[in-house]
Amino acid sequence: MSVGQRVLLLTDPSMDRHAAPGHPERPERRAAAAEGVARGAEVAGAEVQRRIPAPADEDAILAIHAREYVAALDAFEGTGGGWVDPDTYVAVGSMAAARLAAGATIEGARAALSGEATVAFAVVRPPGHHAAGRRAGGFCLFNNIAIAAAGLQREGLAERIAILDWDVHHGDGTQEIFDHHPEVLYASTHQRPLYPGTGAPGERGRGEGHGTMHNVTLAPGADDAAFVAAWTERLLPEVDAFAPAAILVSAGYDAHRNDPLAHLDLTSEGYRTVATAVGRLAARHGIRGIAAVLEGGYDLDALRDSVAATVEGLLDGLATPPSA
Ligand code: ZN
Repeated sequence: MSVGQRVLLLTDPSMDRHAAPGHPERPERRAAAAEGVARGAEVAGAEVQRRIPAPADEDAILAIHAREYVAALDAFEGTGGGWVDPDTYVAVGSMAAARLAAGATIEGARAALSGEATVAFAVVRPPGHHAAGRRAGGFCLFNNIAIAAAGLQREGLAERIAILDWDVHHGDGTQEIFDHHPEVLYASTHQRPLYPGTGAPGERGRGEGHGTMHNVTLAPGADDAAFVAAWTERLLPEVDAFAPAAILVSAGYDAHRNDPLAHLDLTSEGYRTVATAVGRLAARHGIRGIAAVLEGGYDLDALRDSVAATVEGLLDGLATPPSA
């Protein structure tokens, strides 16, 4: 039970204009994930606040993405859009959606850090973790979580930030952006082999960032037990040692057994267990709220249930007294 806990749901129906016929990254995902946030909060007895986010300001985006890259995407949309690569599209309305997605993630990160929200969930499209400074890919245009992390740092709100990524795909964009950065930890579980092919355990960060990248690969067929062990025995101890001031989650749900794009065997219970452990870790470090942003997850029922389990788990973990 979670008396006094607050869940902030950041989403905007206008993101649904980002759409391409037959593509798995489709508008219905947003509604399903938003339902999951509300249901998880309700089951946990937390108060839910829904908010339409403001678009990210241009400076926040340009802290991560090259000006020419953003201009090229805007120009592409201006011609009617199309395919950036075989997986990734720009439709009319996509760039407004991408700016809202980044803005929602920034607002969620701020609200969680200040304690205004116990859990802030940015239910956004397009997703972000494959986008790098000058590259779209894997359905992603702007790297929402990187923009939010850099925003917290630029505003002087948090220095040491942990990004946890449990999407079934490796967040190659996020890793590339922070590869040299000693103050941003990136921890990921992902199926291997699978798109995009990066995220080998030996990829640990470069230069001053060496030791801040943590990649654990999961073989096709890996189940809840393997997923939970990867987080509780390998990744979360690294996060603990890093002692972050803020925790941001790239929350993708395509490792679920019903997901059509990958081959893992997770259930919503796996996400619940890991989310609870993340919440407990945050509580130990005096972190009052956790911000999550939607990445992948392409089976609508699995997405709804897994998001709900995540919200419940995070709230449960964050309610743990720091001494426990
Ligand atoms: Zn994914």
